[in-house]
Parts: sequence; structure tokens; C-alpha cells
Amino acid sequence: MTLRVLNTLSGEREVFEPADPEEVLLYYCGLTVSDDPHLGHARTWVHVDVIHRWLEQLGYGVRHVENVTDVNEKIVARVGERAGDGTVGDSERDVARRFIDRLFSDMRSLRLKRAEVYPRVTEHLPEIIELVETLLEEGYAYESDGSVYFDVTAVPDYGALSNQRVEDLEAQGPEAGRADKHNPADFALWKAGGVEPTAIEEHRHEARTYDADEPEGETWPSPWGDGRPGWHVECSAMSMAHLGATIDVHMGGRDLVFPHHENEIAQSEAATGQQFARYWLHADLLGVDDEKMSSSRGNFIPVAEAVDHYGVDPLRMFFLSASYNSTQTYSGDAIEEAIERWDRLRTAHDRAVEAAADPAARSKVDSALRDRADAAREAFADAMNDDFNTREALSALFDLAGAVNSYLDDADTYDYRGLRASVEAFADLGGDVLGFEFTDEADGDVTLAGELVELVLDVREREREAGNYERADALRDDLEALGVEVQDTDEGPAYQL
Ligand SMILES: [Zn+2]
Repeated sequence: MTLRVLNTLSGEREVFEPADPEEVLLYYCGLTVSDDPHLGHARTWVHVDVIHRWLEQLGYGVRHVENVTDVNEKIVARVGERAGDGTVGDSERDVARRFIDRLFSDMRSLRLKRAEVYPRVTEHLPEIIELVETLLEEGYAYESDGSVYFDVTAVPDYGALSNQRVEDLEAQGPEAGRADKHNPADFALWKAGGVEPTAIEEHRHEARTYDADEPEGETWPSPWGDGRPGWHVECSAMSMAHLGATIDVHMGGRDLVFPHHENEIAQSEAATGQQFARYWLHADLLGVDDEKMSSSRGNFIPVAEAVDHYGVDPLRMFFLSASYNSTQTYSGDAIEEAIERWDRLRTAHDRAVEAAADPAARSKVDSALRDRADAAREAFADAMNDDFNTREALSALFDLAGAVNSYLDDADTYDYRGLRASVEAFADLGGDVLGFEFTDEADGDVTLAGELVELVLDVREREREAGNYERADALRDDLEALGVEVQDTDEGPAYQL
């Protein structure tokens, strides 16, 4: 089975082959910590998490780096904002710290696998400045009044990711109207001084009150004077610092294709002369009533609130019901449906666990359920290898849930191995890959006893295959001495505890 991924760079489904067959280098453009994470963030997180988990299932090691943007005018705009008895924060770092704490607690509550590193801009100023210096030396950037801009006409394929021509580009960034730029589309690598008052104004809300009128944000010394790094350059610097010049997978929201990712490619490849990222995967956004969920529109639902209200499993069910690169709309009905679907999956799992734990009920030997569990594994893997199609992967699990339910509805005695195979498929695919948490309510001792008998029977089979019939018979006699009756059938040994 081959994993194929839709690469934004080529617009095609490509066979996935990391440069190092053992290890995937993955960079995900993380959050700007200026507010509580909302469900739109959670949706992308959960998909990145499942992609990480599936790559591990395929046998790859995953070096996953996820940056935290803790330098930004949106953060500065919240300095001095009244909140309860105090403020959201009294400095840019203060505000960032508050939301970084929130970020990590939300990630934990959603059961996300941890990235290897969560680099922050404030910890990477030397690397950022070094990268800007290289771009200046190589002639890709120019300095103007203490700011440094990237010259988009200096790279031949600027616009390749977002399919645009340099000539057609409008001015970009908050510094769009700056007279000191050579081309309107040039973007800032380094910005002289603190944050401009107009930027603060733009990000402040009328309904809130502020203690600090004109917070400027932190500045750092550089060869061009005190200033602040541009947004795009930080990701290039952090990705290269932790993962080297070329990575396998770069992920982020669809809204980052242009200009953020286009600019990352331009400046990284100009600096190193090497390809920056081989596969660009973009997650589509979560809509609310046909609008993108975003903090600035004020239509966002904080992750913590949603987790409290609905629980993690229904939320994961909701997000995974649509593939990472298709759009999804949040609504009360959609969440209700996810709650119901999670309940259906969990119930089938619990029924199988319960039946497998009932010694009296499992005297039948047939392969029907084992075959369905195998089929579910196969269909699940096909779906995940098809550009991480979680919607189809879930269908495979629901097919198995349906099979378990009708199997248990139709008979009084069951094939133990079939039940265990189903429970294991739920746990491996739904649990380990999709991140659901099934509770195993069956009596642990009874389950373990069943598994130990299975183990002894497997050893006995191997002895028989090797022609050691005496030893095989001795194992059966030992089991019978313990009260486990073994019968050999066409489909393998059956037993009763
Ligand atoms: Zn980024």
C-alpha cells in the first residue's frame, strides 16, 4: 500500500516518499498567541495529529515541529486590556504567555500527540537575523530606513505555490503602502522600530477597555537598528533551525498559502539554494454560517468551552467526519450528529468487549467476524493512504460496528477470536490512529484469561505444525486440567473456559 498526498505545490496527488525513508520531517505553522484557540484551530490540530499518527503507523519516525508566534501586533494590541481585576497582560510577552498556557492546555485536552519542539520567535532572533543577513548578502533583499524587504522579482518562480504571477500581485502586508519598497509585492523581513499605532488601532475592539494607550511591543537590536522580525521569515528560520534546509511536509491552514507560505518558500530557497518543503499540505477551514471561524470576526467558539460542553470524542468525530482538505461547517446539528455517531461506535465496541468477556457465550467457532475485522483494517488503511481520508476511514469503522451489532443480535454464542479481533480493530484504528478513547469496561481478569488461553493454543498450533504432536497434546491436557475444554474444528481450536 502506498500513501498518496495532495501536494498544493503541484496540485496533484503524489506518492509520498520522505527523503529519509525512516523519518518524516514535518513542520506545522502554529498559532499566533493573541487569543484563546477556537474550534477552527482545533479542527486543523486534530487532523495534523491524525496525520502524524498515521505516518507512525506506516512505520515512519516523525519529527514534528510546530511554531508558536509570540511576536505580533495582534498580541501587542491586547497589552493593557482590562480583564477581571487586572489586564490580559502588561507587556507583549505577558499577553503571549497567557495564551501559550491556554494553547498547551487545549492541546492536551484534545489528546494531541506532542510535537518534538514548539519553537518561539522570541527564542530565535539570532537565527532570524542571520537569515536576513544572508538574503541581503546574496542580493535577494534590500535595506531601507532600518527595515529590510525581500525583493520578489529576484526569484524566478515567486508565486508558484499560489499560482500567481508577480506582475499581477497586489501590495501585501500591513506595510503595503510603504513608499520605501521597490515593488508593491515586496514583503518585510525586518521592520524598523516598534509596532505602529495604526496597527494597534486596527486590532483593538471597541467593546473592550485598555489601560495602555499606545503599547509599542518589544524590539530587538539588529545590524539595521532596533526593530521586529517579519512574520514570514520567522517560520523559515525556525524550520531550518530545527529540521534543516529541506523538510518533507509543511502544513498549515489554507489561508496561509498566500502570502505566508509563498514567502517562506521564496526566502528559504533563496537563502539555501535548496528546495524548502517537498510536500505542502493545506487544511481547509471551519465555517460558521458560511463564514470562516476567526477571532477577528468574533464568531469563534473557544476550544476549552467546546471540550467542556461536548467532550473530546464527539469533537474529534465531528472534525474527522470531513477530510482535512475539505471545508466543514460548524452547526448545532452537525455536532449532534457527531455525538450520535460517537455513541454508535462506542456502543458496538463495548458490546464486543462485554460478549468476549462472557465465558459462557463464546463456544462458537466461525470466521465471519474475523473476516469483517480484517476487511475493516484494509478499508481503513486504503482510506488513510488516499491523502488521509478520515471520512472514509470512519466509514470502515462504522461498517465494522454494524457487523458487530448484527453478529451479536443474531446469536447467543460467539466466536471469541472474532470478538477480540473486532475490539482490537476498534482500539488500533479508532483509538491509536483517530485518537478516540474507548473504555474497556470488561472484567480485566476474564479478558486476560481468554488471551492467555489463546496464547497457549497458538503455541500448541506451532508445535503441531513442527510435528511435535506429543508436546501439543500435553499442552491440551494441561489446559484441560485447568478446566479449559479444547475442541479441534475445521476453523481452528475452540475452547470453553
Ligand atoms: Zn508559518
